Amino acid sequence: MSQTIHFACTMCGKCCHDLRLPLSIDEAIVWLRDGGEVEFFCEAIPWPEEPPEDNLLARHKRQRSFATASGELPVRIVVNLVASFEGACPFLQTDMRCGAYTKRPRVCRIYPAEVNPFIELDPGSKACPPEAWSQDNRVLARHGVIVDAEIAELAAQSRRVDAQDVDTKARACAALGISTAALANEGFAIHSPDRDSMLRALSAARESTGSESVDPMQWSFVSNRSSTRQVLDEIGAKVTPSEDSATSGFRYFAFHAAD
Ligand code: SF4
Ligand code: SF4
Repeated sequence: MSQTIHFACTMCGKCCHDLRLPLSIDEAIVWLRDGGEVEFFCEAIPWPEEPPEDNLLARHKRQRSFATASGELPVRIVVNLVASFEGACPFLQTDMRCGAYTKRPRVCRIYPAEVNPFIELDPGSKACPPEAWSQDNRVLARHGVIVDAEIAELAAQSRRVDAQDVDTKARACAALGISTAALANEGFAIHSPDRDSMLRALSAARESTGSESVDPMQWSFVSNRSSTRQVLDEIGAKVTPSEDSATSGFRYFAFHAAD
């Protein structure tokens, strides 16, 4: 895209509804302490061998995941801490202002820009009204690159923190017994420990980060597709059908219909 994108927030509040907000560890702890709900959205990337260093997409995935195994298959696990809500955000005020403005998550400060450098900003996919994109507003992005210095720095900061949080997330999953993930790009295995357990696990994991590493757990894949389960089984991975999710303490969010 070679478009120049102008933007100014109209304070319509539309982006504060029906969300899945990705949070850093510190943000999740604040969100939980303020009475919000946080869940673990887990996905697993088969990683049979290390891609070359100059593979930028693989580098991005490696930075935000930790290495472990599923059966005989080396995998990398991406754990997203997510605050989900239907309707208005619990912190949205009736005048459409943010009731947690000074401590709102980084992703709220970056919106509508993208954190993922491989996803280009598409105004058509955003909740903002047409006047927010008026050419009278300041320039947000040019030729697919965020040029607003403050937003660009926040997005870069978000990626740095995401990478720094990986070890802490691995420790928190081990403490909470979370070891099931969806195949990346097929869905998420969503784990919802109660607030107190999650707060304890995240706080303890953060304090122990950097000390002796935790024993890597064996992870299982979950899928609603029999073809996926068959392929994973053939390459030696541990596999769970999505129908078993209720009895295994998580729920499965599918991107595709079952086959
Ligand atoms: S924290 Fe504030 S800015 Fe973020 S979704 Fe909630 S109300 Fe909106
Ligand atoms: S949807 Fe866009 S214009 Fe409306 S409050 Fe959110 S960022 Fe601002």
